Amino acid sequence: MSRGVAILGATGSIGRSALAVLEQHPDRFHAVALTAHHSAEALCALAERWKPKLAVVSDAPVPPGACTSPGTVWRSGREALLEAATHPDAGVVLNALVGAAGLEPTLAALRAGKRVALANKESLVCAGPLVMQAAREGGGELVPVDSEHSAILQCLAGGDASEVSRLILTASGGPFRTWSAEALAHVTPADALRHPTWSMGAKITIDSATLANKALEVVEAHFLFGVPYARIEAVVHPQSIIHSMVETVDGSVLAQMGFPTMEIPVLYALSYPRRLPYAVRRFDPVAAGALTFEPVDGARFPAFGLGVSAGRAGGLAPAVFNAANEVAVAAFLAGELPFPGIAEAIDHALQCCGGGEASALDAVLDADARARRATETFVRSQVPC
Ligand code: NAD
Ligand code: MG
Repeated sequence: MSRGVAILGATGSIGRSALAVLEQHPDRFHAVALTAHHSAEALCALAERWKPKLAVVSDAPVPPGACTSPGTVWRSGREALLEAATHPDAGVVLNALVGAAGLEPTLAALRAGKRVALANKESLVCAGPLVMQAAREGGGELVPVDSEHSAILQCLAGGDASEVSRLILTASGGPFRTWSAEALAHVTPADALRHPTWSMGAKITIDSATLANKALEVVEAHFLFGVPYARIEAVVHPQSIIHSMVETVDGSVLAQMGFPTMEIPVLYALSYPRRLPYAVRRFDPVAAGALTFEPVDGARFPAFGLGVSAGRAGGLAPAVFNAANEVAVAAFLAGELPFPGIAEAIDHALQCCGGGEASALDAVLDADARARRATETFVRSQVPC
């Protein structure tokens, strides 16, 4: 039977990968809801092709008469995004939104008992305990889309979590892996947007360049797999062939490999625990060449250490880290902050407002708002909190 899929963020990079997956499995999956933030025009084109029951433009009114896809209800605004996340015909909700904006749709979908195919790692970073609680109480299920976490899930298949001694997340190292600290001071947005191995949305591409992304993923892994921070490591692997590794208590190391494409983890999150056939570039070990590993350089990429420390501190610190990072990345892309300023701005926000308990959603949203204000002030004037 065909399974209904709601794709939140259908016009983005992961959203497009998901539609490529649906294209190859028209009998198994169909789109029931598609959302975009600004671009009604881009969503119209998708609605014509996919004929979802619901199409949502979350940030802008849909121009009257702009979209005439028969059978599709058009809605706009934040509430409509939550409607898409809980659509009764959706068996799976793919959360491919970017940033903390993905948190409430994740919570709503899990509370409605949905499988959430989670690309939006920021949900777990901002409010890991609340997200896991929503899954438990609502009967929902979280299946990761992030390639590292999908790799870990695949390595764990059939295994018991008590047999795991270490999770080893791989990182490409980004475009500045070999750059000196002096050179990093003069990085431009165009330099940072040129990722060596993955083609992704702008925010995660900059997060990969600062290695903030790997810190977000350490926190994500902690909550998804219930593994303490002391047993989660990251290693730079420039070829992006090994997507992550799991070490078991007997010293065996399992790795999941393949040429980098997000279509495989998206498909796995939809078909889990089964596997479906897929036409994709096949792995050729000879063509892949040498696989190499390096330590993460926390001195040149301080955002990594700041994020992992925020995760270890727990409470509201990871939400503050995330919000500060979002504001700092936007400022860097707008030419308002130099590249090393991203980590400096995050550090500033964590010092200003990193404490407190993440006891409820309101506390998380309040910390997020305070961190955004502190970071904006830092970007404008570099003044103390
Ligand atoms: P993107 O910028 O390409 O797409 C984001 C999508 O979300 C777009 O459809 C956009 O319209 C929508 N959107 C943006 N801001 C929104 C808001 N405030 N409210 C509602 N909708 C909004 O991003 P992406 O690269 O596809 O990444 C999406 C998520 O997946 C991120 O959390 C990212 O970290 C994660 N992820 C991405 C990749 C990748 O290869 N792109 C890999 C792993 C994880
Ligand atoms: Mg990843």
